Amino acid sequence: MECRDYQKEYRDFLEDTLDERKTERLLKHLSSCSACTEELRTWYLLTEGMRRLESGGTFDITSDFERMLGTRRKRALHARQARTLFVMILFSAILVSYFFMICGILI
Ligand SMILES: [Zn+2]
Repeated sequence: MECRDYQKEYRDFLEDTLDERKTERLLKHLSSCSACTEELRTWYLLTEGMRRLESGGTFDITSDFERMLGTRRKRALHARQARTLFVMILFSAILVSYFFMICGILI
């Protein structure tokens, strides 16, 4: 994927409606592409800034952006770890089943 493909996902990412896999892929790209990170920061400034101005809230948009990215990275990492754990448990269950089948306990 190229930068312009990721840019189509900014809105969903900022609204937190982008699915896990696309979020993970976008975060990975952002960690190696400063141009996209700056572009997303601008989007964040515009969307979040407008929202907070309307609600009268105060904000430090730069640190908020970094905090938001950090939170999303942690969430993506936890989701990946949960998927890995699920696959390991499933694989272990299959192995145990085969073991008992081979031993003739289930037959
Ligand atoms: Zn990029």
